[in-house]
Amino acid sequence: ERGAHGRPEWLKARVPDGPGYREIKETMRGLSLHTVCEEARCPNIGECWNNRTATFMILGNICTRSCGFCAVLTGKPRELDLEEPYRVADAVKKMGLRHAVITSVNRDELPDGGAGVFAATIRAIREEVPGCAVEVLTPDFKGDRAAIKTVIDAKPDTFNHNIETVPRLYPAVRPQAKYRRSLEVLRYAKELDPGVLTKSGFMVGLGEVEEEIVQTMRDLREHGVDILTIGQYLRPTENHLPMARYYTPQEFARYKKLGFGMGFSHVESGPLVRSSYHAHEQTQDARRG
Ligand code: SF4
Ligand code: SF4
Repeated sequence: ERGAHGRPEWLKARVPDGPGYREIKETMRGLSLHTVCEEARCPNIGECWNNRTATFMILGNICTRSCGFCAVLTGKPRELDLEEPYRVADAVKKMGLRHAVITSVNRDELPDGGAGVFAATIRAIREEVPGCAVEVLTPDFKGDRAAIKTVIDAKPDTFNHNIETVPRLYPAVRPQAKYRRSLEVLRYAKELDPGVLTKSGFMVGLGEVEEEIVQTMRDLREHGVDILTIGQYLRPTENHLPMARYYTPQEFARYKKLGFGMGFSHVESGPLVRSSYHAHEQTQDARRG
């Protein structure tokens, strides 16, 4: 069951369009902001933007790390843009977002890893658009507790940090990260504010096996994670890690069921699932749950 470009039918990209989509695109250009939606050529862009959800990438677009799955440029980042939090808040307002996701590259060269800018962005959005839910998708801050506290003190609705893959594959997938350290980041965020929704996710199709997936899900749950996302890895370019295989929609459905059985309050699992896909609904569900 393959689509026109060798991909299975269920992964065919949909052409983005609609009034919400066009309006957001214009706003982004005007404020010179980056969205993951555009830069990662996310296949969900039409649906998310029309539903008033978008993911901003703050702290520049050059990363100090070099994860094997990621298309972001590795290098020495530029100076910090201290006006950025206000431009993001302005964009959130103009776009009428109901759910804003804030993420960043890794800034390992900064003493706080960029945590201060995350906090300033959360506060700026709260001020400008009180009704908008704010989700942060953060780096691991090298496990620095003060940095995690800086972000949590700004009171995001959701604190998301992706585990990305099973521990065995870390050397190839996240060479500068540590599996246990990322679990600890999630646990500590929850400890600091038990009211914050914690969230994490991973990709499948990198060569992991079922028992490893199940164990990773258990580890996340044991570290207090509320919301889980599972999506298909797609190789961004020939220079990135090869894809081991496609998972079928049925397999994704099975992991979703398994996740609910483990006690996650929301599980988003499917071929096109990305960290922020249906982010608004995830938060609603988890709050009700
Ligand atoms: Fe943007 Fe995330 Fe939606 Fe993709 S899933 S379009 S990155 S908000
Ligand atoms: Fe990409 Fe994030 Fe890894 Fe940097 S830390 S290479 S932005 S996944």
